[in-house]
Amino acid sequence: MDNIRLAGLQEEKRTFFQVGKVQIGRDFLIIAGPCSVESEEQTLEIAHAVKEGGADMIRGGAFKPRTSPYNFQGLGLKGLKILEKAKEQTGLPVVSEVLDTRDVSWMCEYVDILQIGTRNMQNFSLLKEVGKTNTPVLLKRGMYSTISEWLNCAEYILNEGNSRVILCERGIRTFENYTRNTLDLSAVAALEELTHLPVIVDPAHATGKSSLILAMSLAAVAAGADGLILEVHNHPEAALSDKDQALTPEQFCQLTRKVRALRAFMEDLN
Ligand code: PEP
Ligand code: MN
Repeated sequence: MDNIRLAGLQEEKRTFFQVGKVQIGRDFLIIAGPCSVESEEQTLEIAHAVKEGGADMIRGGAFKPRTSPYNFQGLGLKGLKILEKAKEQTGLPVVSEVLDTRDVSWMCEYVDILQIGTRNMQNFSLLKEVGKTNTPVLLKRGMYSTISEWLNCAEYILNEGNSRVILCERGIRTFENYTRNTLDLSAVAALEELTHLPVIVDPAHATGKSSLILAMSLAAVAAGADGLILEVHNHPEAALSDKDQALTPEQFCQLTRKVRALRAFMEDLN
């Protein structure tokens, strides 16, 4: 692939790095939490539940990229302070999306991993800005982007000096509309031969349906993913965003047990 100088796989050398207790790229990583931070009570309750259920990190959007400007846009700084409290109480690192170059440096004080969402994958100013920080970056695949375009975006971050990038397959737009997007698991296998960077899968945004998440999570493990990011809500029906794809804490708990068992089985095969 042309011009993939820093992100390309060389001599089978894989990137791995420690965040919290997890060696990302080696240990299987499970990130879970609400789509949006809605209130302190909601986020703390979910944070404790996902910790109990076997999550390694907490996710939660404080800045939400919504299709309509009239939809809930997130709590901003207040949301990040709530995530900070969730981290204090659970000991779990925090992942949250950054939407604006102006927020990058101060957000690093609140989060352990900066998420770049699908709609911003090719926001080159934002990529350069997160590339200047020392905070790991979770780079989601653009919903209309090829694997090559995606790797070029990782290249932007690496080229600024930040080597800790995680790629996240979250589904792409196709003609199929039963599912919210189409989960491209072949991208996970393809990336294993193209890049040294860790690759995780987001089956929630890929399917948009909580009933499909367990099957796609197991499939992601089988495809060789290094982890999963999942949406969990204590009252999915009342969630302010992405309610149809939120797992209950009980569903999450069952999922992590099966996912970790399959991963252990696959490690035994090698
Ligand atoms: C999210 O993680 O809640 C999100 C908005 O994801 P994506 O950018 O993949 O749509
Ligand atoms: Mn979401």
